[in-house]
Amino acid sequence: MECLACRRTMPPVIREPNFCFGCGRPLRQYCPACGTTSRIRLPLYNGGAGARRPTSSCYSCNNLFKACSTCFRLHTLDAVRCLTSGCTGTLQEPIRPFPSPLGPLNGTRNVDWPGRFQLPRDENPRQIERIQLMAFRYGLLIAAGRTDIRTYEWSGTRWEQHSIQVYPGNRALTARGLIVQQGRIFLLAQEGTMVYSLAGNLLLAYEDSRVYLQQAVGPDWWARLDADGNITLQRGEAWEGEEVELPRLAGKPICMTTDATGSRVYVGTDAGQLLKIDPYSDQRPYQTQTIYDTQGAYRWNNLAVVNGFVALLGRATNNLYDPNRAQALQPALAIINTEGQMLQGPRDLPAGTLSDFAWAGNRLYIGREQEQDAARARGSFIDIYNTQTLTQNPETRTLDAATRTLAGIMAFTNQDGDIRLLLQRKGNPAQKYVMFDPNSGTRADISSPTDESQLACLADSRLVIARHRNMSTFLDTLPIVP
Ligand SMILES: [Zn+2]
Ligand SMILES: [Zn+2]
Ligand SMILES: [Zn+2]
Repeated sequence: MECLACRRTMPPVIREPNFCFGCGRPLRQYCPACGTTSRIRLPLYNGGAGARRPTSSCYSCNNLFKACSTCFRLHTLDAVRCLTSGCTGTLQEPIRPFPSPLGPLNGTRNVDWPGRFQLPRDENPRQIERIQLMAFRYGLLIAAGRTDIRTYEWSGTRWEQHSIQVYPGNRALTARGLIVQQGRIFLLAQEGTMVYSLAGNLLLAYEDSRVYLQQAVGPDWWARLDADGNITLQRGEAWEGEEVELPRLAGKPICMTTDATGSRVYVGTDAGQLLKIDPYSDQRPYQTQTIYDTQGAYRWNNLAVVNGFVALLGRATNNLYDPNRAQALQPALAIINTEGQMLQGPRDLPAGTLSDFAWAGNRLYIGREQEQDAARARGSFIDIYNTQTLTQNPETRTLDAATRTLAGIMAFTNQDGDIRLLLQRKGNPAQKYVMFDPNSGTRADISSPTDESQLACLADSRLVIARHRNMSTFLDTLPIVP
Protein backbone atom coordinates (compact mmCIF):
# COMPACT_ATOMS: atom_id res chain seq x y z
CA MET A 1 0.00 0.00 0.00
CA GLU A 2 1.20 3.45 -0.89
CA CYS A 3 0.43 6.68 0.99
CA LEU A 4 -1.10 9.18 -1.43
CA ALA A 5 0.01 12.14 0.70
CA CYS A 6 3.76 11.44 0.99
CA ARG A 7 3.97 8.73 -1.71
CA ARG A 8 5.77 6.39 0.64
CA THR A 9 5.22 2.66 0.14
CA MET A 10 4.45 0.87 3.40
CA PRO A 11 6.99 -1.82 4.28
CA PRO A 12 5.53 -5.29 3.59
CA VAL A 13 6.20 -6.45 7.16
CA ILE A 14 3.33 -4.24 8.31
CA ARG A 15 0.46 -6.18 6.79
CA GLU A 16 -2.49 -3.85 7.28
CA PRO A 17 -1.20 -0.45 8.40
CA ASN A 18 -3.78 1.92 9.86
CA PHE A 19 -1.57 4.97 9.52
CA CYS A 20 1.19 6.01 7.12
CA PHE A 21 4.63 4.97 8.27
CA GLY A 22 6.08 8.22 6.88
CA CYS A 23 3.62 11.08 7.51
CA GLY A 24 1.18 9.57 9.99
CA ARG A 25 -1.93 10.10 7.84
CA PRO A 26 -4.76 7.55 8.19
CA LEU A 27 -4.73 4.76 5.61
CA ARG A 28 -7.70 2.88 7.08
CA GLN A 29 -10.75 3.90 9.07
CA TYR A 30 -13.72 2.35 10.83
CA CYS A 31 -16.75 1.95 8.58
CA PRO A 32 -18.73 5.24 8.83
CA ALA A 33 -22.01 3.27 8.75
CA CYS A 34 -21.52 0.29 11.07
CA GLY A 35 -18.88 2.15 13.06
CA THR A 36 -16.59 0.64 15.60
CA THR A 37 -19.05 -2.10 16.62
CA SER A 38 -17.91 -4.35 13.80
CA ARG A 39 -14.22 -3.60 14.60
CA ILE A 40 -13.60 -3.39 10.87
CA ARG A 41 -11.08 -0.92 9.56
CA LEU A 42 -11.49 -0.40 5.85
CA PRO A 43 -8.66 0.76 3.59
CA LEU A 44 -9.48 4.29 2.35
CA TYR A 45 -8.57 3.36 -1.21
CA ASN A 46 -7.30 0.52 -3.31
CA GLY A 47 -4.55 0.63 -5.90
CA GLY A 48 -1.56 2.95 -6.14
CA ALA A 49 -1.45 6.66 -6.87
CA GLY A 50 -2.14 6.25 -10.59
CA ALA A 51 -5.01 3.78 -10.36
CA ARG A 52 -6.43 4.79 -6.99
CA ARG A 53 -10.09 4.01 -6.38
CA PRO A 54 -11.72 4.95 -3.09
CA THR A 55 -13.29 2.08 -1.17
CA SER A 56 -16.91 2.16 -2.31
CA SER A 57 -18.67 -0.08 0.22
CA CYS A 58 -18.30 -1.92 3.55
CA TYR A 59 -17.93 -5.68 3.25
CA SER A 60 -19.65 -6.11 6.61
CA CYS A 61 -22.76 -3.90 6.42
CA ASN A 62 -22.82 -3.37 2.60
CA ASN A 63 -23.36 0.38 2.96
CA LEU A 64 -22.01 2.53 0.13
CA PHE A 65 -19.66 5.48 0.72
CA LYS A 66 -18.69 8.86 -0.58
CA ALA A 67 -14.95 9.59 -0.42
CA CYS A 68 -13.18 12.91 0.15
CA SER A 69 -11.22 14.10 -2.89
CA THR A 70 -8.38 15.40 -0.69
CA CYS A 71 -7.96 13.24 2.42
CA PHE A 72 -9.84 10.14 1.12
CA ARG A 73 -11.84 9.79 4.31
CA LEU A 74 -14.96 7.66 3.76
CA HIS A 75 -18.41 9.09 4.55
CA THR A 76 -21.98 7.82 4.47
CA LEU A 77 -24.01 8.87 1.41
CA ASP A 78 -25.98 11.56 3.25
CA ALA A 79 -22.79 13.43 4.23
CA VAL A 80 -22.40 16.83 2.57
CA ARG A 81 -18.96 17.95 3.73
CA CYS A 82 -15.74 16.15 4.70
CA LEU A 83 -15.65 15.53 8.45
CA THR A 84 -11.85 15.86 8.72
CA SER A 85 -11.21 19.13 10.50
CA GLY A 86 -9.78 21.79 8.19
CA CYS A 87 -10.18 19.62 5.07
CA THR A 88 -11.70 21.47 2.09
CA GLY A 89 -12.03 18.44 -0.20
CA THR A 90 -15.32 17.59 -1.89
CA LEU A 91 -17.16 14.32 -1.39
CA GLN A 92 -17.31 12.09 -4.46
CA GLU A 93 -19.77 9.34 -5.18
CA PRO A 94 -18.55 5.81 -5.82
CA ILE A 95 -20.10 5.48 -9.27
CA ARG A 96 -21.19 7.89 -12.03
CA PRO A 97 -24.69 9.07 -11.05
CA PHE A 98 -27.87 9.27 -13.14
CA PRO A 99 -29.99 10.54 -10.25
CA SER A 100 -33.32 11.14 -12.00
CA PRO A 101 -35.17 9.75 -15.03
CA LEU A 102 -33.77 12.76 -16.93
CA GLY A 103 -30.19 12.28 -15.74
CA PRO A 104 -28.54 15.28 -14.06
CA LEU A 105 -30.56 17.37 -11.61
CA ASN A 106 -29.73 20.67 -13.34
CA GLY A 107 -32.10 19.95 -16.23
CA THR A 108 -29.45 19.69 -18.97
CA ARG A 109 -30.18 16.07 -20.01
CA ASN A 110 -26.47 15.78 -20.85
CA VAL A 111 -24.55 12.91 -19.29
CA ASP A 112 -20.88 11.92 -19.39
CA TRP A 113 -20.45 8.69 -21.30
CA PRO A 114 -17.59 6.63 -19.86
CA GLY A 115 -16.57 4.78 -23.00
CA ARG A 116 -16.54 4.90 -26.78
CA PHE A 117 -19.80 4.87 -28.67
CA GLN A 118 -20.20 1.23 -29.54
CA LEU A 119 -23.32 -0.60 -28.61
CA PRO A 120 -23.55 -4.35 -28.87
CA ARG A 121 -27.10 -5.68 -28.47
CA ASP A 122 -28.11 -7.28 -25.23
CA GLU A 123 -29.32 -10.80 -25.96
CA ASN A 124 -30.55 -11.53 -22.46
CA PRO A 125 -33.18 -9.05 -21.26
CA ARG A 126 -34.27 -9.22 -17.62
CA GLN A 127 -38.04 -9.47 -17.11
CA ILE A 128 -39.36 -7.65 -14.04
CA GLU A 129 -42.71 -6.41 -12.84
CA ARG A 130 -43.73 -3.29 -14.70
CA ILE A 131 -42.01 -0.02 -13.76
CA GLN A 132 -42.88 3.63 -14.37
CA LEU A 133 -39.63 5.52 -13.79
CA MET A 134 -35.99 4.60 -13.17
CA ALA A 135 -32.74 6.24 -12.07
CA PHE A 136 -29.25 5.03 -11.19
CA ARG A 137 -27.15 6.12 -8.27
CA TYR A 138 -24.73 4.78 -5.66
CA GLY A 139 -24.43 1.58 -7.69
CA LEU A 140 -28.16 0.85 -7.55
CA LEU A 141 -30.78 0.92 -10.29
CA ILE A 142 -33.87 2.41 -8.66
CA ALA A 143 -37.26 1.64 -10.20
CA ALA A 144 -40.66 3.06 -9.26
CA GLY A 145 -43.26 0.42 -10.05
CA ARG A 146 -47.04 0.68 -9.83
CA THR A 147 -47.31 -0.84 -6.36
CA ASP A 148 -43.74 -0.75 -5.01
CA ILE A 149 -40.32 0.86 -5.17
CA ARG A 150 -37.48 -1.51 -5.99
CA THR A 151 -33.72 -1.32 -6.18
CA TYR A 152 -31.49 -3.57 -8.27
CA GLU A 153 -27.80 -4.32 -8.13
CA TRP A 154 -25.67 -5.46 -11.08
CA SER A 155 -24.36 -8.97 -10.43
CA GLY A 156 -21.99 -8.96 -13.39
CA THR A 157 -24.51 -10.62 -15.69
CA ARG A 158 -27.93 -9.27 -14.68
CA TRP A 159 -29.86 -6.94 -12.37
CA GLU A 160 -30.56 -8.67 -9.06
CA GLN A 161 -33.22 -7.29 -6.78
CA HIS A 162 -31.65 -5.56 -3.79
CA SER A 163 -34.71 -4.19 -1.96
CA ILE A 164 -38.46 -3.91 -2.43
CA GLN A 165 -41.01 -1.87 -0.52
CA VAL A 166 -44.73 -1.74 -1.30
CA TYR A 167 -46.30 1.71 -1.24
CA PRO A 168 -48.13 2.81 1.91
CA GLY A 169 -51.64 1.36 2.07
CA ASN A 170 -50.75 -1.24 -0.60
CA ARG A 171 -51.98 1.16 -3.23
CA ALA A 172 -51.11 1.43 -6.90
CA LEU A 173 -49.56 4.85 -7.57
CA THR A 174 -48.96 6.99 -10.63
CA ALA A 175 -45.32 8.08 -10.32
CA ARG A 176 -44.49 11.59 -11.54
CA GLY A 177 -40.99 12.23 -10.28
CA LEU A 178 -38.03 10.28 -8.95
CA ILE A 179 -34.81 11.77 -7.57
CA VAL A 180 -32.04 9.93 -5.74
CA GLN A 181 -29.97 12.29 -3.61
CA GLN A 182 -28.65 12.48 -0.03
CA GLY A 183 -28.61 8.65 0.04
CA ARG A 184 -32.42 8.72 -0.23
CA ILE A 185 -35.10 8.11 -2.84
CA PHE A 186 -37.57 11.00 -3.31
CA LEU A 187 -40.71 9.83 -5.08
CA LEU A 188 -43.50 12.11 -6.30
CA ALA A 189 -46.74 10.37 -7.16
CA GLN A 190 -50.10 11.77 -8.13
CA GLU A 191 -51.48 10.32 -4.88
CA GLY A 192 -48.75 11.44 -2.46
CA THR A 193 -45.06 12.00 -1.79
CA MET A 194 -42.63 9.49 -0.27
CA VAL A 195 -39.03 9.36 0.85
CA TYR A 196 -37.24 6.00 1.07
CA SER A 197 -33.81 4.91 2.20
CA LEU A 198 -31.68 3.00 -0.29
CA ALA A 199 -32.33 -0.14 1.73
CA GLY A 200 -36.00 0.31 0.81
CA ASN A 201 -37.29 1.62 4.15
CA LEU A 202 -40.01 4.22 4.07
CA LEU A 203 -38.70 7.30 5.89
CA LEU A 204 -41.57 9.65 5.21
CA ALA A 205 -44.97 9.61 3.51
CA TYR A 206 -47.10 12.66 2.79
CA GLU A 207 -50.65 12.45 1.70
CA ASP A 208 -52.02 15.95 1.40
CA SER A 209 -54.64 17.31 -0.95
CA ARG A 210 -52.04 19.01 -3.14
CA VAL A 211 -50.90 17.47 -6.38
CA TYR A 212 -47.14 17.91 -6.75
CA LEU A 213 -45.86 18.17 -10.30
CA GLN A 214 -42.13 18.60 -9.94
CA GLN A 215 -39.37 18.37 -7.38
CA ALA A 216 -35.76 19.50 -7.03
CA VAL A 217 -33.28 18.15 -4.48
CA GLY A 218 -29.93 19.56 -3.35
CA PRO A 219 -27.26 18.29 -0.97
CA ASP A 220 -29.50 18.88 2.08
CA TRP A 221 -32.77 20.41 0.86
CA TRP A 222 -35.85 19.26 -1.01
CA ALA A 223 -38.31 21.48 -2.94
CA ARG A 224 -41.68 20.53 -4.40
CA LEU A 225 -43.89 22.44 -6.82
CA ASP A 226 -47.64 21.80 -6.78
CA ALA A 227 -50.27 22.20 -9.49
CA ASP A 228 -51.42 25.53 -8.02
CA GLY A 229 -47.89 26.96 -8.31
CA ASN A 230 -47.00 26.75 -4.61
CA ILE A 231 -43.46 25.74 -3.65
CA THR A 232 -42.64 23.85 -0.44
CA LEU A 233 -39.03 23.68 0.69
CA GLN A 234 -37.52 21.60 3.47
CA ARG A 235 -34.03 21.43 4.84
CA GLY A 236 -31.85 18.75 6.35
CA GLU A 237 -33.37 16.40 8.86
CA ALA A 238 -36.20 18.77 9.79
CA TRP A 239 -38.89 17.30 7.60
CA GLU A 240 -41.35 20.10 8.30
CA GLY A 241 -41.96 21.78 4.95
CA GLU A 242 -41.90 25.56 4.72
CA GLU A 243 -43.85 27.33 2.05
CA VAL A 244 -41.83 29.70 -0.13
CA GLU A 245 -43.19 33.23 -0.21
CA LEU A 246 -43.78 34.03 -3.87
CA PRO A 247 -43.90 37.60 -5.19
CA ARG A 248 -47.18 38.87 -6.64
CA LEU A 249 -47.00 37.48 -10.16
CA ALA A 250 -49.15 37.63 -13.26
CA GLY A 251 -48.76 33.85 -13.58
CA LYS A 252 -47.72 30.83 -11.56
CA PRO A 253 -44.60 28.63 -11.32
CA ILE A 254 -44.74 25.63 -13.68
CA CYS A 255 -41.13 24.37 -13.92
CA MET A 256 -38.25 24.10 -11.46
CA THR A 257 -34.62 22.97 -11.37
CA THR A 258 -31.35 23.55 -9.54
CA ASP A 259 -27.71 24.22 -10.47
CA ALA A 260 -25.04 21.51 -10.45
CA THR A 261 -24.06 22.13 -6.81
CA GLY A 262 -27.63 22.61 -5.57
CA SER A 263 -26.92 26.12 -4.26
CA ARG A 264 -30.03 27.76 -5.76
CA VAL A 265 -33.50 26.75 -6.96
CA TYR A 266 -34.66 28.23 -10.29
CA VAL A 267 -38.35 28.45 -11.18
CA GLY A 268 -40.05 29.39 -14.46
CA THR A 269 -43.62 30.71 -14.59
CA ASP A 270 -46.42 30.59 -17.14
CA ALA A 271 -46.27 34.39 -17.39
CA GLY A 272 -42.60 34.60 -18.39
CA GLN A 273 -40.77 35.16 -15.10
CA LEU A 274 -37.63 33.42 -13.88
CA LEU A 275 -37.41 33.22 -10.09
CA LYS A 276 -34.43 32.36 -7.89
CA ILE A 277 -34.62 30.96 -4.36
CA ASP A 278 -31.74 30.51 -1.90
CA PRO A 279 -32.49 27.23 -0.08
CA TYR A 280 -29.79 28.06 2.50
CA SER A 281 -31.30 31.39 3.51
CA ASP A 282 -32.19 31.70 7.20
CA GLN A 283 -35.22 33.88 6.41
CA ARG A 284 -38.64 32.32 6.98
CA PRO A 285 -40.72 32.11 4.98
CA TYR A 286 -38.14 31.62 2.19
CA GLN A 287 -37.93 34.66 -0.08
CA THR A 288 -38.00 34.62 -3.86
CA GLN A 289 -36.12 36.93 -6.22
CA THR A 290 -37.51 37.64 -9.71
CA ILE A 291 -34.37 37.79 -11.86
CA TYR A 292 -36.03 37.99 -15.27
CA ASP A 293 -39.51 39.10 -16.28
CA THR A 294 -41.08 39.15 -19.74
CA GLN A 295 -44.28 40.68 -18.32
CA GLY A 296 -46.53 37.91 -19.54
CA ALA A 297 -45.09 37.76 -23.08
CA TYR A 298 -43.82 34.18 -22.66
CA ARG A 299 -44.66 31.00 -20.85
CA TRP A 300 -41.58 29.03 -19.68
CA ASN A 301 -42.19 25.29 -19.70
CA ASN A 302 -38.68 24.00 -19.25
CA LEU A 303 -35.34 25.22 -17.90
CA ALA A 304 -31.78 24.09 -17.23
CA VAL A 305 -28.81 25.71 -15.43
CA VAL A 306 -25.13 25.35 -16.40
CA ASN A 307 -22.10 27.41 -15.31
CA GLY A 308 -24.03 30.53 -14.37
CA PHE A 309 -26.42 30.43 -17.33
CA VAL A 310 -30.08 29.48 -17.52
CA ALA A 311 -31.75 28.22 -20.71
CA LEU A 312 -35.52 28.78 -20.82
CA LEU A 313 -37.70 27.02 -23.38
CA GLY A 314 -41.35 27.93 -23.74
CA ARG A 315 -43.85 29.72 -25.91
CA ALA A 316 -44.69 33.29 -26.83
CA THR A 317 -48.13 34.26 -25.54
CA ASN A 318 -48.62 37.26 -27.88
CA ASN A 319 -49.19 39.15 -24.65
CA LEU A 320 -52.56 37.50 -24.24
CA TYR A 321 -52.06 35.57 -21.06
CA ASP A 322 -54.18 32.46 -21.42
CA PRO A 323 -52.71 29.12 -20.37
CA ASN A 324 -55.26 27.23 -22.47
CA ARG A 325 -54.03 28.77 -25.68
CA ALA A 326 -50.35 28.17 -24.96
CA GLN A 327 -50.03 24.99 -27.01
CA ALA A 328 -50.93 26.74 -30.25
CA LEU A 329 -48.42 29.55 -29.79
CA GLN A 330 -44.92 30.10 -31.15
CA PRO A 331 -42.09 28.19 -29.39
CA ALA A 332 -39.42 30.46 -27.88
CA LEU A 333 -36.00 30.19 -26.26
CA ALA A 334 -33.99 32.53 -24.02
CA ILE A 335 -30.56 32.32 -22.35
CA ILE A 336 -29.78 34.57 -19.41
CA ASN A 337 -27.17 34.51 -16.68
CA THR A 338 -28.09 33.54 -13.15
CA GLU A 339 -28.04 37.20 -12.07
CA GLY A 340 -30.67 37.97 -14.70
CA GLN A 341 -28.36 39.72 -17.18
CA MET A 342 -26.73 39.08 -20.57
CA LEU A 343 -29.85 38.05 -22.31
CA GLN A 344 -29.83 36.02 -25.55
CA GLY A 345 -33.32 36.11 -26.98
CA PRO A 346 -36.13 35.54 -26.30
CA ARG A 347 -35.99 34.14 -29.79
CA ASP A 348 -38.93 32.64 -31.61
CA LEU A 349 -38.33 29.08 -32.79
CA PRO A 350 -39.94 27.36 -35.78
CA ALA A 351 -43.40 25.80 -35.42
CA GLY A 352 -43.29 22.16 -34.39
CA THR A 353 -40.30 22.60 -32.03
CA LEU A 354 -40.57 20.08 -29.19
CA SER A 355 -40.80 21.23 -25.60
CA ASP A 356 -37.52 19.77 -24.29
CA PHE A 357 -33.84 20.08 -25.05
CA ALA A 358 -30.45 18.58 -24.30
CA TRP A 359 -27.67 21.04 -23.43
CA ALA A 360 -24.09 19.88 -24.04
CA GLY A 361 -21.16 22.33 -24.09
CA ASN A 362 -22.43 25.48 -25.80
CA ARG A 363 -24.97 23.64 -27.95
CA LEU A 364 -28.67 23.11 -27.37
CA TYR A 365 -30.25 20.17 -29.23
CA ILE A 366 -33.99 20.46 -29.82
CA GLY A 367 -36.28 18.15 -31.79
CA ARG A 368 -38.75 19.51 -34.32
CA GLU A 369 -41.66 17.83 -36.11
CA GLN A 370 -42.74 19.78 -39.20
CA GLU A 371 -46.27 18.91 -40.23
CA GLN A 372 -47.23 18.81 -43.87
CA ASP A 373 -48.79 22.02 -45.21
CA ALA A 374 -49.42 23.62 -48.58
CA ALA A 375 -45.78 24.65 -48.92
CA ARG A 376 -43.85 21.83 -47.25
CA ALA A 377 -43.79 18.07 -46.82
CA ARG A 378 -43.69 16.48 -43.38
CA GLY A 379 -40.25 16.40 -41.81
CA SER A 380 -38.44 15.40 -38.63
CA PHE A 381 -35.42 17.41 -37.54
CA ILE A 382 -32.90 18.14 -34.80
CA ASP A 383 -32.10 21.86 -34.53
CA ILE A 384 -28.76 22.78 -32.97
CA TYR A 385 -28.53 26.22 -31.34
CA ASN A 386 -25.35 27.90 -30.17
CA THR A 387 -26.01 29.31 -26.69
CA GLN A 388 -23.56 32.17 -27.30
CA THR A 389 -25.08 33.41 -30.56
CA LEU A 390 -28.73 32.57 -30.28
CA THR A 391 -29.79 35.02 -32.95
CA GLN A 392 -28.19 32.99 -35.75
CA ASN A 393 -30.16 30.30 -37.50
CA PRO A 394 -29.72 26.84 -36.04
CA GLU A 395 -27.87 24.06 -37.77
CA THR A 396 -30.43 21.48 -38.76
CA ARG A 397 -30.14 17.68 -39.10
CA THR A 398 -32.78 15.68 -40.91
CA LEU A 399 -34.25 12.44 -39.59
CA ASP A 400 -36.46 9.86 -41.28
CA ALA A 401 -39.82 11.58 -41.87
CA ALA A 402 -41.82 8.35 -41.43
CA THR A 403 -41.13 8.37 -37.67
CA ARG A 404 -41.21 11.22 -35.15
CA THR A 405 -39.17 12.17 -32.10
CA LEU A 406 -40.94 11.98 -28.75
CA ALA A 407 -40.17 14.34 -25.90
CA GLY A 408 -37.29 13.09 -23.74
CA ILE A 409 -34.14 13.85 -25.77
CA MET A 410 -30.85 13.02 -24.02
CA ALA A 411 -27.24 13.82 -24.91
CA PHE A 412 -24.18 11.73 -24.07
CA THR A 413 -20.72 13.29 -24.16
CA ASN A 414 -17.73 10.95 -24.10
CA GLN A 415 -14.19 11.69 -22.91
CA ASP A 416 -13.13 12.79 -26.41
CA GLY A 417 -15.95 15.37 -26.48
CA ASP A 418 -17.97 13.37 -29.04
CA ILE A 419 -21.72 13.72 -28.65
CA ARG A 420 -24.54 11.31 -29.35
CA LEU A 421 -28.23 12.04 -28.90
CA LEU A 422 -30.52 9.37 -27.52
CA LEU A 423 -33.89 9.88 -29.23
CA GLN A 424 -37.09 7.99 -28.79
CA ARG A 425 -38.73 7.63 -32.20
CA LYS A 426 -42.35 6.77 -32.79
CA GLY A 427 -43.62 5.07 -35.91
CA ASN A 428 -47.11 3.75 -36.35
CA PRO A 429 -47.34 2.40 -33.68
CA ALA A 430 -43.83 1.00 -32.98
CA GLN A 431 -41.49 3.01 -30.74
CA LYS A 432 -37.76 2.55 -30.24
CA TYR A 433 -34.61 4.33 -29.10
CA VAL A 434 -32.03 5.45 -31.63
CA MET A 435 -28.54 6.81 -31.03
CA PHE A 436 -28.00 9.81 -33.31
CA ASP A 437 -24.65 11.36 -34.21
CA PRO A 438 -25.39 15.09 -34.69
CA ASN A 439 -22.07 15.60 -36.49
CA SER A 440 -22.45 13.03 -39.23
CA GLY A 441 -26.24 12.73 -39.12
CA THR A 442 -25.98 8.93 -38.84
CA ARG A 443 -28.11 6.91 -36.46
CA ALA A 444 -28.29 3.40 -35.02
CA ASP A 445 -31.30 1.61 -33.57
CA ILE A 446 -30.55 0.48 -30.04
CA SER A 447 -33.84 -0.99 -28.82
CA SER A 448 -36.44 -3.34 -30.28
CA PRO A 449 -39.67 -1.62 -31.29
CA THR A 450 -42.62 -1.84 -28.90
CA ASP A 451 -46.10 -0.35 -28.92
CA GLU A 452 -45.43 1.73 -25.83
CA SER A 453 -43.04 4.43 -24.79
CA GLN A 454 -39.71 3.17 -23.36
CA LEU A 455 -37.38 4.37 -20.60
CA ALA A 456 -33.61 4.84 -20.72
CA CYS A 457 -31.04 5.17 -17.96
CA LEU A 458 -27.24 5.32 -17.92
CA ALA A 459 -26.11 2.93 -15.18
CA ASP A 460 -22.40 3.61 -14.79
CA SER A 461 -20.84 1.64 -17.66
CA ARG A 462 -24.13 0.26 -19.00
CA LEU A 463 -27.08 1.73 -20.85
CA VAL A 464 -30.37 0.28 -19.60
CA ILE A 465 -33.47 0.44 -21.82
CA ALA A 466 -36.81 -0.55 -20.27
CA ARG A 467 -39.47 -1.86 -22.65
CA HIS A 468 -42.97 -2.59 -21.40
CA ARG A 469 -45.25 -5.44 -22.38
CA ASN A 470 -48.55 -5.92 -20.56
CA MET A 471 -47.70 -6.07 -16.83
CA SER A 472 -43.98 -6.67 -17.37
CA THR A 473 -40.95 -4.57 -18.12
CA PHE A 474 -37.95 -5.97 -19.99
CA LEU A 475 -34.60 -4.44 -19.07
CA ASP A 476 -32.10 -4.50 -21.93
CA THR A 477 -28.61 -3.83 -20.63
CA LEU A 478 -26.13 -2.66 -23.23
CA PRO A 479 -22.50 -2.66 -22.11
CA ILE A 480 -20.47 0.41 -23.01
CA VAL A 481 -17.17 -0.50 -24.63
CA PRO A 482 -14.30 1.42 -22.99
ZN1 LIG B 1 2.21 9.29 4.16
ZN1 LIG C 1 -19.99 -1.17 7.64
ZN1 LIG D 1 -11.30 15.39 3.49
